[in-house]
Formats: sequence, C-alpha cells, structure tokens
Amino acid sequence: MLKGKTALVTGSTSGIGLGIAKALAQQGANIVLNGFGDAKAAQAEIEALGVKTAYHGADMSKPEQIEALMQTAAEAFGRVDVLVNNAGIQHVAKVEDFPVEKWDAIIAINLTSAFHTTRLALPAMREANWGRIINIASAHGLVASAQKSAYVAAKHGIVGLTKSVALETATTGVTVNAICPGWVLTPLVQKQIDDRAAREGISMAQASKDLLGEKQPSLQFTTVEQLGALAVFLSSAAADQVRGVAWAMDGGWTAQ
Ligand code: NAD
Repeated sequence: MLKGKTALVTGSTSGIGLGIAKALAQQGANIVLNGFGDAKAAQAEIEALGVKTAYHGADMSKPEQIEALMQTAAEAFGRVDVLVNNAGIQHVAKVEDFPVEKWDAIIAINLTSAFHTTRLALPAMREANWGRIINIASAHGLVASAQKSAYVAAKHGIVGLTKSVALETATTGVTVNAICPGWVLTPLVQKQIDDRAAREGISMAQASKDLLGEKQPSLQFTTVEQLGALAVFLSSAAADQVRGVAWAMDGGWTAQ
C-alpha cells in the first residue's frame, strides 16, 4: 500500500515509534529513523522487511537539528509522505516541585518538535497533494492525571495542533490526525512500573497490575502492533476523510 512512499518516524529506535515504523515498512514504505539508543539494530530490523532506511539522530528539542533531520530525509528519499511525530519523554512530579528544565524539555520534545517537522514537511506534501501526518498524543491528550502537568499540557497541545493543521489542509490530499494510546508496555512505562514497585515495596507484576487497574478498564496494555495497524489505516485511502481526530486506543481509559 505504501510502496515508493517515505515515512519519517521520530523517536523510532524504541517502543511505539519502532512498532509504527515496522508496520509502515511492512506496507512497503522506506523509513527515516530518528531517536537515541541502538539505531543500527532498529535499521537492521526494518531493512529485513525489504525497504530502505535512513537515520538521523537529531535531538528533537533542538530546532536546528530537526531541520537537519528533515534535510537528511529529503536528500535520501526526495520527500516525506508520512510523518509520524512520536518522540516523547515523561517526568512525574507535583507542579510546585517540577524541575523547570524538565518542563521545558517535555514541551520542546513532546509538542514543539511536531510544529517544526510539520511546517518543514508540509510544502512537499501539498505539492504532491498527498500526505499523512500522524501525531502520537496520549490518553493524556484528552484527560489529565495528577503529577504529569508538563506531559498533559504537551499532549493536549498536540491534539490542538492536530486539529488546527487538519483544518488548514482540509481541501487537500493531506490528512492530519492524532492517536491517543493508553498504557503501552515500553521503556517509558516500564520506568513508571519500576518506580512504583520500589516506592511501594511490591513486585513488578503487582505494580503493573495496579497501574492498569487505576486507569485502563480492559486491564490489558495496548500493544505497539495495534498502534502500528492504526497508523497503517490512517495512511490508507479508506481514511481520506478522517481529519483532525484524536483517536483513542486506550482500553476504555477515556470512556470513563
Ligand atoms: P520510549 O521511551 O520507548 O521511546 C521514545 C523514543 O523517543 C525513543 O526512540 C527515544 O530515543 C526517543 N527520544 C526521546 N527523547 C528524544 C529526543 N530529545 N530527541 C529524539 N528522540 C528522542 O517511549 P514510548 O512509550 O514508545 O513513547 C513514544 C510516544 O508515545 C511518546 O510521545 C509518548 O508520550 C507516547 N505515549 C506512550 C504511551 C505508553 O504507555 N508507553 C502512552 C501514550 C502515549
């Protein structure tokens, strides 16, 4: 379905980004990877699916590095057809104790980076009259939790950005949507499970059960494969009129 197209997935060396990159590669898209950690392993996994890859390790909190990432994508494959804004970090603390540099980093990586990639990718998408921008928001883009002020602000912000750019592109072949996952068992969430187990002196299995029990009625994690399948659907012709939505895949979290 995406043969000959190029997908850029930010933060794709791990977790949800890697899962979505794999799902898009399975549809034939060449992939531009980004993120820290083991980029070579991620590239090898994706190339094994029979597509080409490029990698740029831009720090998504730095606008000039984001410009270099977009330049690398254009040089490698001509343009970006599917842009997945996924890179994100978390920090948990009460607002009055929230480290100022963590607030700035979360807003920069989880929100502002999507503004930069979007503004830089859109001209070529408009010219081709086809494109997909998929923003990985969160259940926290729709509802809040205590101690996550920066994350909740950034994720609500990216839902707003999604709607605004969807309106600006409404008469074109470019669609802009957000995906709002509930708990997904990735390194970002594993850290919260580890912290909880240590803080409460309970096993990891119990901490994980408690974490789900608090928020996610299905009591099951959303998987990266399920999120990848949703990204593939949003990239398909069947989703041509899906515009500006914040699509929850959260085991019922935001239905409560
Ligand atoms: P993860 O920690 O497994 O992956 C995050 C990715 O972002 C990694 O590739 C990391 O290298 C990259 N990254 C982090 N900081 C970066 C920076 N400054 N510049 C470039 N890359 C950077 O996390 P994940 O759980 O896969 O999260 C991916 C996205 O999904 C995030 O936006 C997160 O908020 C969102 N999300 C996650 C969950 C969940 O339960 N795991 C739920 C809802 C939304």
